[in-house]
Amino acid sequence: MSLRSRLTTAFLVVVLGPVLVGAVFVAAVMSHLADSRGEALANSAVTMVDSTLGTICERIQASAAAVALNYSSGGRRTAVEMAQLVVNRSVVDGVVFTSLDEAGTDPGTDIGAEAPQGAWVDCGESAAYAGAGPIVALGAQVEVQGTDGSTAVFSAFRIVDREFLDRLALVADADLILRDDRERPLSAGGDDVGRWEYTDAFLPLSIGTVATDVTPMYWTLAAMVTASTVLAMGLASWLARSTTRPLAELSAAAERVSEGDLDVRVPVHGRDEVAHLALSFNQMTAQTQSYVQALTSSRDQMRGQLGRLGQTLTATLDLDRILEVILDTAMVTAGAEAGAILLVDVDDTDQLRQRAGEGDLGIDQPASIRIGEGILGSIAESGVPAHGRIVDGRFGDRRRAATEPDAGTIVAVPFNGRQPVDQERTYSRQPVEQDRARTALDQGSGSRRADPEPDAARAPNDADYGEPRTGGGVLGVLVVYNRVAGEDFEPGDVDSLRTFAGQAAVAVENVLLHRQAQRLSLTDPLTGLWNYRFMQTSLRREAERTRRYQRPSALLAIDLDRFKIVNDTYGHPVGDQVLVELARRITGQIREVDLAFRHGGEEFMVMLPETDAVGAEVVAERLGRAVAARPFKVNDATGGRELRISVSIGIAVLGEHADTATAVLAAADEALYAAKAAGRGTWRVAV
Ligand code: GH3
Ligand code: MG
Ligand code: MG
Repeated sequence: MSLRSRLTTAFLVVVLGPVLVGAVFVAAVMSHLADSRGEALANSAVTMVDSTLGTICERIQASAAAVALNYSSGGRRTAVEMAQLVVNRSVVDGVVFTSLDEAGTDPGTDIGAEAPQGAWVDCGESAAYAGAGPIVALGAQVEVQGTDGSTAVFSAFRIVDREFLDRLALVADADLILRDDRERPLSAGGDDVGRWEYTDAFLPLSIGTVATDVTPMYWTLAAMVTASTVLAMGLASWLARSTTRPLAELSAAAERVSEGDLDVRVPVHGRDEVAHLALSFNQMTAQTQSYVQALTSSRDQMRGQLGRLGQTLTATLDLDRILEVILDTAMVTAGAEAGAILLVDVDDTDQLRQRAGEGDLGIDQPASIRIGEGILGSIAESGVPAHGRIVDGRFGDRRRAATEPDAGTIVAVPFNGRQPVDQERTYSRQPVEQDRARTALDQGSGSRRADPEPDAARAPNDADYGEPRTGGGVLGVLVVYNRVAGEDFEPGDVDSLRTFAGQAAVAVENVLLHRQAQRLSLTDPLTGLWNYRFMQTSLRREAERTRRYQRPSALLAIDLDRFKIVNDTYGHPVGDQVLVELARRITGQIREVDLAFRHGGEEFMVMLPETDAVGAEVVAERLGRAVAARPFKVNDATGGRELRISVSIGIAVLGEHADTATAVLAAADEALYAAKAAGRGTWRVAV
C-alpha cells in the first residue's frame, strides 16, 4: 500500500467516520422523535374523540332528563316545549315521546328529526357495541311518572351519520371509521393516515392520525453525508498528493543520483520539513558533484602528469627536464601551488642548490641553503620528511632561512639515493676533496650541458652547478608549498611524496651515472682536462669549420721542460701534482670557448677557436708567464716544497699552417721542438 493511499485512507477514516456515525445517530433520533410524536397525536385524538362523544352523550342524557322533568312537573305541553328548545338549540337532533298509559295507547309526539331506524347506542350503557346492525344514532332514555300517573319515556338522540363523523373528525383532527357491521364502513377524513387507534367508549371507532413523514429529512441527511464524503475524498486526495509529491520527486531524484546523474535537482515547494529536506538534498548533490568534478579533474591531471613523467624518465637524459617533470608531478599529487627541488652542491657539499622551481616562491632562483640551516637545510641534514605550517617564519623549532620562501604550508621530503635512508639516519657529509676529485670530471649540468661535448675548457673545475652526489645518502630535498585553497597538507601527502621522491631519485641517479660514464671516456682522470680522444674529435670539427667558413683556429702544444728530472728527483706522485697544478693554471688563462686537452704524458694542447697566430702568441706568452711566475707547491714524503717550472709552447694555426687535424698537430709539434731548441721556457710559431 503506497504512502499516498495510506494517507488518503487515514484522512477519510478520521473525517468521514464521525460524519457517518453522526448521520446514523441523527437518523435514529429523527425516527424516534417521529414515532413519539405520532403516538402523542394518536393519544390526543383518542382522548379528544372520547371526551367529545362523552360531552355529546351528557347533553343527550341531560336533554332527555330535562324533557322528562318538564313532563313530570308541567305535563305534556311543557315537555314538548322543552324538547322543542333542545332540538332548536341543536343540543340533540330529536326527542321521541313514548307514553306508557294504562290503555296502552301512545299518542306519540316526536320532536325534531325523525327517529332513525337501526341500532342505537345508548349513552347510559357502558356496554360495548355488540353488532346489531348499522349504528344510526346515539341516544339516552328517561322514564318518568306523569301528573296523571301515567308513565312516559323520553328518548333524546343524535343521528350518527357521515356528517356527524365529519364534525367529530374535525374536532379531533383525526380520521375516523365507524366499526359497525355495515358493508362499507362509514368513514371521515383522507387516506394519508399513518397510525390507527381504536376506541369503543361510546362508539366503536378507528381513529387515524397522520404520521410525521421523516423521509425528506432522511434524504437531506443522505445528501449531506454524500456531499461531505465527496468533499472529504477530494480533500484527502489533494492532501495526500501534495504531501507525497515532493517525496516522490525526492525519491526519483535520489534514484537518478544513484545512477550517477549528479546534475539532478529537486524543486523546493514552500518552507516545510519536506522543503527543508529537498534543500538539503540539493546542497548534498551539488557538493558531491563538485567533489566528483574535483576528483575527476585531479585524476585527469594526474594521468597526464604520469604520462609525461613516464615519457620523460625513459626518453631523456636531460637532468633539468627530469627534475622539472618530477616537481610538476609532486605538485599535482599534493595539490600544491609552488615547489622546488634542491640538490646537494658538488663543489660545496654543505650547500643545497635549487635545481627546479615552480610557482611564485617569492625568492630569486637559483636559491641555495646551507645544510643544517633553515627549514630545508635541517630536513636535508636529518633526512626525515616533514610537513606542517610555517607560522611567523618558524616551522617547529626551525626558523626560515632568508633564501627560503615565506610560504604557509609545506611538505618536504629528502631526495634519497639508491640506499634507503631510515627515519633516524642523519645526513653525513662526505669529505669535500673526495667529491671534488670525482666531480672534477663532470662538466656541470643543465640542459645546455647535456651535450657530451661541452664548450668550455675551464668548466670541469668551475661548474655553475655542482653535480649531486650519487651512490646513496641524501641527494637533496623535494619541497612543495601552499596547498591549493589554503588547506593543510596531510600525512598521506608526505607518504606519497616520500615514495615518489624515492623512485624519482633513482631516475635522477641514473642520469647522473650515465653522464659520469660519458665524461669518464672523454676526460683525463688526473687533470680533469679533455683527453686525447676528445682532442681528435675537436680538432677534426675545428678543421672542418675552418675549411667551411675560412675562420682561423690556433692550436698550442705545451710541454713541460725537463720534467723527467722532476720525476726522477721527487718521484712520480710529485710529478703528478705538478701536472694537476699546470692544468689548473692553463685553464685559468684561457677563455670560456677555448678547450684544453691532455695530449698524453706531460704534453698539453690548447685549442683557441677564432684566433690567428697573433692572438695565439699573446696567449702563449701569458701561459708561459703564468707557469713561470710562481713556483709550484707540491708535497712529498718529506713535506711541502716549491718547484720552479717552465713550459715550451709551439703554435700552429688552422687555415694558415695546416688544413687538417693531423697536419696542424704536426705543425704545432714542430713549433714546440723549435721552442725547445730555442732554449725552452719560450714559444715558437710554426712556419
Ligand atoms: P724536455 O721536454 O725539456 O726535452 O725534457 P723532458 O725531461 O721533459 O723530456 P720528455 O719531454 O721526453 O720527458 C718525458 C718525461 O715526462 C718522462 C716522464 O718521466 C715524464 N712523464 C710523462 N708522463 C708522465 C706522467 O703521467 N706523470 C709523471 N709524473 N711524469 C710523466
Ligand atoms: Mg714531452
Ligand atoms: Mg718535456
